[in-house]
Amino acid sequence: MTNTDTVDAIGTAIQVKELAQAGSEFVRITVNTPEAAAAVPYIREQLDRMGESVPLVGDFHYNGHRLLTEFPDCAQALSKYRINPGNVGKGDKKDKQFGQMIEAAMRWDKAVRIGVNWGSLDQELLASLMDANSQRAQPWEARQVMYEALITSAIESARLAESMGLNGDQIILSCKVSGVQDLISVYRELARRCDYALHLGLTEAGMGTKGTVASSTALGILLQEGIGDTIRVSLTPQPGEARTQEVVVASEILQSLGLRVFVPSVTACPGCGRTTSTTFQELAKQIDDYLRAQMPVWRVRYPGVEGMKVAVMGCIVNGPGESKHADIGISLPGTGEAPAAPVFIDGEKALTLRGERIAEEFHALVEQYVERRYGHQ
Ligand code: SF4
Repeated sequence: MTNTDTVDAIGTAIQVKELAQAGSEFVRITVNTPEAAAAVPYIREQLDRMGESVPLVGDFHYNGHRLLTEFPDCAQALSKYRINPGNVGKGDKKDKQFGQMIEAAMRWDKAVRIGVNWGSLDQELLASLMDANSQRAQPWEARQVMYEALITSAIESARLAESMGLNGDQIILSCKVSGVQDLISVYRELARRCDYALHLGLTEAGMGTKGTVASSTALGILLQEGIGDTIRVSLTPQPGEARTQEVVVASEILQSLGLRVFVPSVTACPGCGRTTSTTFQELAKQIDDYLRAQMPVWRVRYPGVEGMKVAVMGCIVNGPGESKHADIGISLPGTGEAPAAPVFIDGEKALTLRGERIAEEFHALVEQYVERRYGHQ
């Protein structure tokens, strides 16, 4: 999801493109004001002009019914509408305003994500479930009632949308919470109770390592159980950190589970007392950064390159073995070893690099390998 002001159409289009190039397969943008809604078609136009076809998802709260009705070019330019049932209106306005958004989706043939979030849960529904719970002979714990409210809100909204004429296969549900165990419990139950496509995400996961680990743990467990059709990792960028970091984490989750392949993988050892310098750490990072940076072009020029495996290892203990398992790998010299770095290509020792320019020469070998194996297809 972008964090630009949507009214800034050029700035938003640039960030959408960056997210798409990092691997995002659809990008959500905030549509919160008439000015933002008016900017959406220009963002789409700008992306098309840049040759970027990634679909846009509009994030609507409170006034989505008006924006989607009064700005038909916005409704048409988006590929999916995110509707939060907790923020579509209160009392007798709720169903009417929800219905206006569903009508827009049907008119323009768009998908809808019914995205419930425990930070903006439908308070009327929660209150009625709390009341019903208090009547039970053995009341549930408050947390259990909250789970029930999230799931009920999502499923009942989806059924209402279907009753208005929207196809069930145009609906995707999400019930986001910020606790790992809560998310797993909610989605297991949600998956058990409906057949709608499910979007996974740990909301407000936080920054850096904490957000990355929590998201990976929660999403990894659910995906391994076959739960989830789309994912988003919600990371708070650290100062100076790229917005694309959350896309990198999301793609690594899918890639590490073997569900999707986005970028060539770099196998690198952690290093230990046998490593004599930081050369192998630097080389592993350089190669990883280089491969990722090339992907927007390589994806088109070298079909299949995303499945390539590169190894950068620190010494003879596991270096040659791990390098042989990779498509191309290098085993750098550890403490006490001769200053030579054997390179393995397609499981065979191909040559040995020596001297000060090992990093540059290995880099060139990777480029040659990519061209030879994946070029001219
Ligand atoms: S491959 Fe060598 S340097 Fe790397 S962790 Fe293993 S023993 Fe240590």
